Amino acid sequence: MASGASRALPEGWRDWTWQMRNRIRNADDLAAWLSPTADEASAIAALADRFHFVITPYYASLMDPADPLCPIRRQVVPATAELDDPDGLRDPLDEVAHSPVKNVIRVYPDRIAFCVNNECALYCRYCLRKRMVGEKGWAMKQRELGEAIDWIRRTPEIRDVLLTGGDPLVYSDDRLEWLLAELRAIPHVEIVRIGSRLPVTLPFRVTDALCEMLAKYHPIWLNTHFNHPRELTADAEEACDRLTRAGIPVGNQSVLLRGVNDSVSVMKQLCEGLVRMRVRPYYCYQAQLLEGTAHFRVPIERGVEIFHALRGRTSGFAIPQYVLDTPYGKIPLAHPYLHGRDGDDVIVESYDGRIWRERNPK
Ligand SMILES: *Cc1c(COP(=O)(O)O)cnc(C)c1O
Ligand code: SF4
Repeated sequence: MASGASRALPEGWRDWTWQMRNRIRNADDLAAWLSPTADEASAIAALADRFHFVITPYYASLMDPADPLCPIRRQVVPATAELDDPDGLRDPLDEVAHSPVKNVIRVYPDRIAFCVNNECALYCRYCLRKRMVGEKGWAMKQRELGEAIDWIRRTPEIRDVLLTGGDPLVYSDDRLEWLLAELRAIPHVEIVRIGSRLPVTLPFRVTDALCEMLAKYHPIWLNTHFNHPRELTADAEEACDRLTRAGIPVGNQSVLLRGVNDSVSVMKQLCEGLVRMRVRPYYCYQAQLLEGTAHFRVPIERGVEIFHALRGRTSGFAIPQYVLDTPYGKIPLAHPYLHGRDGDDVIVESYDGRIWRERNPK
């Protein structure tokens, strides 16, 4: 098991700025937590200029030093498999083409993803925004933020703004408050959503002061990104509890990842653990055809099978919608419960495979 529980935690451990300052950034830093395998050591060296290797001490404490296949470790420690992905693309969702103004991605008429930051507390090896997160040249300039806000102001169809990145909660409270106040001053922006992995990777960021500030700008929703039940720690639970007590509905978006959560039992533990924390599983994404991630991808039929197996066997609201994100929007992937028509009836299938005929209303 992870060594975190047994070692004495350093002074400052629960201070999120201490965690940010003391992040693991190279093989030597990692050696304080585990001995990298030969594969990990050569991947850290080979991938150094391709994609950031950064882990918070908190998240490192969840890794199992004895298990190179540890699902936490797999998410953040480089593997040489990343160098072998002939199908992987840099921008599989063609987000660059869907950008009316820098940092805004618009796929739907009424809502946008607004990439307000290119920094995260740590970097996930399968990050969809690899092309921009952590890139020095990308950093959001104040002028560019202003231009994107102006675009939202002039585009009255936009009623839902999703702040994403990178991670918006890496901002200071003051900077985030400035941004929320700007958005709240636009009458057609009805809801603001925050996409943040910090409740998982740096739960100490979710302070009472942050929650009090956010609560001034309601309706605010937040989606986070737990992928494995071992991430559901007491600290993460406390972070989610603070958010929900501030009136912020907390949802979860996971990614279906080979060797991390691609089994019915792990997915069930994850989803049931989330609802115990009052976090609603929202989406589970099919992993994209993204560069360097072939070793994480799971065939879509397998994903459909996992979520089919959960239906009827756990609380309905514990089951996220399994989706494929595409340049045309998110597409639900589901077992075909509706078999079609037979005369005046429709034929449907129950969770356990029994067939039901229902008279189809005219
Ligand atoms: C996911 C996403 C949204 C939000 O979609 P919902 O289905 O409403 O959660 C909006 N814009 C973009 C570009 C997205 O990728
Ligand atoms: S936290 Fe999200 S945006 Fe940041 S590296 Fe991970 S997947 Fe990418």
